[in-house]
Amino acid sequence: MDIKELYKMWKEDGTAEEFAPEWVKIRSDMTNAFPAYHAVEGVDPFAKDVGEAINQLSKLKPKANGPAYLGDDPKGPYYGDVTSAKLPEKRSTLEEVNQKAVDLFTGMPNWNHPLTMPNVIPPANKAGIIAAMMTDLYSPNIIEGEYSWNVEKSEMESAAILARLIGWDPQKAGGVYTFGGSGCYFYGIKYGLTQALGRESRCKGIREDAKLLVSQQGHYCKLNSSDWTGLGMDNIIEIETNSQTNAMDIEKLEAVMEELHQQKIPIAAVVCTMGTTDAFAIDSPKAVRELIDKYPNPNGEKALLYCDAVIGWSWLTFRDYDFDGNPLGFSPETLKNSRSNLEKIKEIEYADAVGCDFHKTGWAPYNCSIFVMRDLNHFRALMTRPGSAYLQDRVCYNPGLFTLEVSRSGSYSMAGWATLQYFGAEGFQSMLGGILDMEEYLRHLIEKEESTVCVNSDDHGFVTLFRVYPKNVDAKNQYEQELKDPKAIKELEKNNALQEKIGNTLWEWFRDGKTHDGQYGPYISYTSGFRKTDYNSDGSNPKAVIYALKSFPMNININATTMQNLLKLVLHARDEIMAGHYEEPEQTGCCQPPYNENPTPVVCGSTESGNVRHAVENLLSGIPK
Ligand SMILES: *Cc1c(COP(=O)(O)O)cnc(C)c1O
Repeated sequence: MDIKELYKMWKEDGTAEEFAPEWVKIRSDMTNAFPAYHAVEGVDPFAKDVGEAINQLSKLKPKANGPAYLGDDPKGPYYGDVTSAKLPEKRSTLEEVNQKAVDLFTGMPNWNHPLTMPNVIPPANKAGIIAAMMTDLYSPNIIEGEYSWNVEKSEMESAAILARLIGWDPQKAGGVYTFGGSGCYFYGIKYGLTQALGRESRCKGIREDAKLLVSQQGHYCKLNSSDWTGLGMDNIIEIETNSQTNAMDIEKLEAVMEELHQQKIPIAAVVCTMGTTDAFAIDSPKAVRELIDKYPNPNGEKALLYCDAVIGWSWLTFRDYDFDGNPLGFSPETLKNSRSNLEKIKEIEYADAVGCDFHKTGWAPYNCSIFVMRDLNHFRALMTRPGSAYLQDRVCYNPGLFTLEVSRSGSYSMAGWATLQYFGAEGFQSMLGGILDMEEYLRHLIEKEESTVCVNSDDHGFVTLFRVYPKNVDAKNQYEQELKDPKAIKELEKNNALQEKIGNTLWEWFRDGKTHDGQYGPYISYTSGFRKTDYNSDGSNPKAVIYALKSFPMNININATTMQNLLKLVLHARDEIMAGHYEEPEQTGCCQPPYNENPTPVVCGSTESGNVRHAVENLLSGIPK
């Protein structure tokens, strides 16, 4: 074909001429592979396509009271043949691709199912899902206003809403959505490093050891952040926690800060965890703020106070709740516990920056997290880069000049923002209070049953941790002994093994497609070390730790009957194990090269054996304990 003739290749209606080259025909046909750019009468064809795809996907749903996984084969996943994948020669139809995509969901846990409660994994709400999907249609890029127009407002308004909840001035605060709680942490550490080591550190690199102070129970993404910022994991100093509250021990923190101050070693950030995953331990930003003011860094700047509130933030939605009038009618326990959660979380106002996960306690789709800073322009002054030749500042606000990411999907910000609109304070309050009431009920059942004991009855986060003992054992007494008496270590080990076996048995029952004692298996999890025994507070005996089964009732379909059934099946699993019916679970997946190798992780001095105290001792010899 002569290129000068190209214009002859299409008919007036845009379809290809008979004599047009093959590529023109395929291309013309592929117009249908995209949503139409123009309006059509009636239902938009793409809306129909999406509806059909969702219908195909929904065929994986179980019937009501069916098993807690999607589809009819929970035995997978099957990774054995992945390396045979090749780019197909020909196109596929939308239906074919959809079906292949749907197949990938087969066997997956159904997070919305009442029997599913293994972790802080909330099913996503409709407004959040739909708002995120909308961004897939029109690709707003919140790198800058020109490419996202008013969609950028979803980020700015989320920041203002959160700033108000935190107790900050929304005319000073700002926020950027990012890829997760670990992304927020990463922002926090980079912010702290730049404040502690100066803007030059962004040119010359991190050439000086600045420390990251965080409680022993802080989230392990401290490793990602210190590693990927180039700071190095050895610069983490873990602060011991109070054995009662699991919160950072402020005296221990002060000792470390004082020593660093004397040695003129800068602190990049002190991280307060506002709700740990298991114990829901909440540190005290107010106390930390005082110490930060007392011990400034060598350059005269203060260490950054970052609050890792990715789990705890949503209790702030109770800020204006009328606890005396109790208009939502929570039980007295739930009322008391939500108030106490709010009071602790409220100290977050002392932070410089805060991370919030909407995909954890905001019921939004993955990923959806926002890093909120008290003083947006302070952050920008430290973090802004020169612009680029191919982007113009056509709009006054262009976050891409200081964000980690270059292209930034609007799906996070739209999902978070839409969820805030959709739920409002009353929606969040009912969801959160509902979890507490559900937990309270489970704890009541555990209390009633002689052979079970709740081991985190002082915590009022999102999880109930409990231990199950052989029939007719007085669980409370037995647990007390195991917790306090070093002579009970053999029994502790045996009963820890029992928790693990129950966890494994339920995992098998969740996936075997059969009913047990009249019902399908629940999907819960267990922890191999929720806390240390009282006589092992230094962690020197790795076996003297408490295993426990975990229930995270995050989803809205869980009710009191679910909790009754859960406990019934847990006891049934115990009885089966005691009767000698137990098999070690096999790892699934069937990985082949290159996926079947397990490289040795880098273990740094300070994180060796998971116990950083030795490193702290090396660093800070002479600090009284
Ligand atoms: C989950 C979690 C993180 C990590 O967040 P992601 O969203 O998974 O990246 C960090 N801190 C705490 C306390 C968490 O619970």
